[in-house]
Order: sequence, then structure tokens, then C-alpha cells
Amino acid sequence: MLSLTFYGGANGIGGNKILLEDGDSRLFLDFGTDFAQRYHYFEEYLNPRPGLGLLDFLEMGLLPPLEGIYRRDLDPDGSILASYTSSPLYREVDVEGVLLSHAHLDHSGYISFLKGDIPIYSSAMTAFVAKAVQDSGKGDMEKEVCYLTPREHVFPKLGKDKQDGEGALRAANSKKVNARQRPFYLFDCNELTPGARRFWADTPGARDLDSRSPTPVEGIGPLRLRNFPLDHSVPGACAYAVETSLGWVVYTGDLRWHGRQGQLTRDFVQSASQLRPAVLIGEGTNAPQDADAPPGPCFTEEAVFAKALEAVRGTRGLVIADFGARNVERLLTFRETAGLTGRRLVILARDAYLLEAMGYLTPSIPNIAQDPLLAIYHDSKSNLDRWERGIRERHRAKLVTPQQIHQMQGDYVLCFSFFDINELPQVRPKEGSAYIYSSSEAHNEEQEMDVRRLQNWLRHFDIRGIGLPVKGEIPVEERGLHASGHASAAELVELIRGIHPRVFVPVHTENADYFVSGLAGSGIQVRVPQWGERMEFRQ
Ligand SMILES: [Zn+2]
Repeated sequence: MLSLTFYGGANGIGGNKILLEDGDSRLFLDFGTDFAQRYHYFEEYLNPRPGLGLLDFLEMGLLPPLEGIYRRDLDPDGSILASYTSSPLYREVDVEGVLLSHAHLDHSGYISFLKGDIPIYSSAMTAFVAKAVQDSGKGDMEKEVCYLTPREHVFPKLGKDKQDGEGALRAANSKKVNARQRPFYLFDCNELTPGARRFWADTPGARDLDSRSPTPVEGIGPLRLRNFPLDHSVPGACAYAVETSLGWVVYTGDLRWHGRQGQLTRDFVQSASQLRPAVLIGEGTNAPQDADAPPGPCFTEEAVFAKALEAVRGTRGLVIADFGARNVERLLTFRETAGLTGRRLVILARDAYLLEAMGYLTPSIPNIAQDPLLAIYHDSKSNLDRWERGIRERHRAKLVTPQQIHQMQGDYVLCFSFFDINELPQVRPKEGSAYIYSSSEAHNEEQEMDVRRLQNWLRHFDIRGIGLPVKGEIPVEERGLHASGHASAAELVELIRGIHPRVFVPVHTENADYFVSGLAGSGIQVRVPQWGERMEFRQ
């Protein structure tokens, strides 16, 4: 019998953790961070305690109480999970892998807590983006998607040989214990060049990495698999199909049509419909609360390019472009606008590192060393990680200092987000500079506060903001500087009708009921999942 259990991705956007079981086979479709649930209890200065391993995550519902899937070093004597055996959701499971749809943390983040020998199945691009992001990140326990740092239990010392209290977990000594790479199975593994293999095995920081060569995918146990590359706001996104005893189960991950790779999503719909799926599990991010409300505008990446070009053309001084992290498509959009306006695009070291990683897999990514339009921001740091030193060494001729930008402001488009804005006292933008906001709107109070702070910075430096919400709304003439990573509601209904599964299960949405009315009369049954619910399917 086929069943699906939703430990995330039901009743909200993101955090997808869907357990698919068929006979003796079990696998997860994604294992992401549920940011909404995390924000429900935590914020920037109030976080789950890493020293207590799994405890805070299990207690606050960020991880389901499942025996057999989590890292032993985060619960060394098993006592943390043992205290959840009376939970109605507690059970033992033995999973054969995680099918990872893409490298956004709301789909990948909590792989961090899974045992280090559980295979991760993904596209090579998703694996490489995940590694680049982890390499250039802060070594956070909730972001150990690609490799993990073993923890050990230590007691604080009170004077000589006196131990105090219960002790806590911390990262093991970096000189003695290596980081461990997870086993990745890649759908396009055979195309890896020697450069790509070197990047995959490379140690990013002070701690050595026990690397594992990626393996080509054959299937998960007896289950046949198919993957379909998609258009989304991060490179490498895929949909999957798993052949079960009931027929094909298709999982969309996140998708859209209106990016530059839209044809991939069209091809996916075509191929998935030919499988005549028993079940389609599909994202519904843009489903509206009110099914009768007129659809909002849906901007394409092409339209964003035209709008951004107009904004850059209309600016004399420095242009600062703010777009989502890892949105490489948008980065390339701004690179083009820079080229057409006689400027250079200045990216951060972490963006350069990501472009290099992607460049090992595809020639469509500009080679930084040879690209006349790309430069790298030379920030003032006293400590550099190994990956960052590598970027500076390989691209010395490409580095641009804040002082150089200050002197020739009309020559650059600078890629900063709000979290880089404290560089401005060195850059000192002159009159006639602009900040182009090309990112999604604020989704919660914390992000709204950040937008207010950003506006204070812009006022302080007398920079014109373009595309920023004023009293919660972007001025009409400044709209269109961002294209959503997700298909519109109408497109989703068209996709579901096109694939025509027997059953549709909406996930990654706050308005699943929209699909009940949207698919009425189509002959497709809609089953809305609840958190923790086990949904069974029979012939
Ligand atoms: Zn996504």
C-alpha cells in the first residue's frame, strides 16, 4: 500500500518533509526548514540551543519524533528521542533516502539533522549550490545539508578536574575530527569534469572534509525514479516521479514558467502527463485566499530585465542592486543591464564562489576571470576562510575596493542586500545614487522592520530607493522589479489539469482549499493534507 505522511509542507509555505511509503520502501520528498514554525517561537536573538542537540527542535515541533533517522551525535544516549515515545507521531522508520527538489533551505535545511549515511538524491546543480552555500556560510548546525560537523559531549570545568552540571554538545576538535560529507546520488553524475570533482571534494575551512564521490542514481531500492529539470528562482530545481505499486507519484517541488528556463517546466508538464500519475503532490505558493479575487500581476524575468535597465539608465551615481541570495538568474539580469549602461557588476565573494561552483557544471555561467563585466567587492575583513582566500587569490585582478567605487560611482552596479548595507560608510555613495529593490516583499514583522531600517540607511546617505514598499505598497510606477519564483495560481491549475493525476495533493501553500474549487468538475480528486497526517492510497 502507498501512503504519504506530511511532517511539513502541509498548512503553510515551506518546510516540506513528506514521507512516501510503499511496501518496504520509504523515502522523504525534501526535508526542509519550516521557517514559519521557527518564527512562531524563535527570532534573531532567541534560537534553539545547539548544545542540546535535537531537544529544542523536537519539543517545538520543528522536527517530527521519528526513531532511526536522526544523527546519533545530536542525541548521544538516545534519551532525547526516548522522551517523545508517548507522542502520537512517534514511530520508528528506516528511510532509504531523501529526494531533494532544490537547494532552498525550506526544502533542504533540516537534512542537517539526518544521519550521515542517509543518501541524498538530487541534480548535480542542487548538490553544488548546496555545497557552495554551506562552504561560504557561518557553520550553523541548521545548515549542514552537504556535510556535517560531528558534535561531542563536554562538561564545563570548575577549577582542576571538577566537572560542573550536565554538560552540552559542541563541535568536535577541528584538528582531530573531520567534517563528513553526506552520500549524494546525482541524476547527472556522469557529466562531472575533474574540476567539478575537485570542488566537490575540497575542504572549505579550517576543518578537513572526509569527502565522498557522488554516485549515479539507479533507483531507490525497487522504486524507479525520474527527474525533470524545472524553472525556479534557484538553479538546479527538479520535479520527481516515483513509480509505486499504485502507479506514478509525481512531486513538483517549487516551479514557475516565467523565468528564462520556462520551457523546462512546460516539458515537465508534458512528460508527467504521459506517466498518467496516480498522485500529484504540487506546490501552491501563489494560491490566493479568495478564489474570486482578480489575479495579481505576474512579472516575467524578461519584464524585470527591461524595468531594471530603465532604472539603471536613469541613475547617474552608484547603483545598488538588491536581490535574493542564490538568485543567479537575477544576478545575470543585472550583469546584462550593467553591460548595456557601460558599468561593471560588483559581486560579493560568496556570489563569486557560487558562480565558480556552477561554472563547473555549465558553460552558460560567465567565467569570472575572463568576463569584462564582473568584478568582486574587496571588503575589509581581518579573517578570511579558506574558500574566501581562494577567491581573492584566483581573482586578484578583479577586486574592487570601496574607495575605488566611491571615486567612480557611475561605473558600477553593486550587488548588496540589506545585510551588506553597513559597508556604505566606506563606499560613501554620492548624490544621484539609487538602491534597486529586486526581491520579494516582506512576509513577516521582522522583515518589515528590516525594510524600515533599510529606508533609514537610504535617507542617511541620500540614496533614492526604487521598488521599495512605501506604507506597505510599492509605488505603481516602480512595480515589476521582481518576478516571483513560483507559478501564478491560474498557471498552477492549468498545470494540474494538464498532468491530470487521479489525486492532487496541494502542499507548500496557505490556501489549499483554492484547489478544491479550482479543480471542481475536472475529475481530479483533491486531498488536502494536515501536519503529521498519514494519507493512504488504495487502488
Ligand atoms: Zn524554492
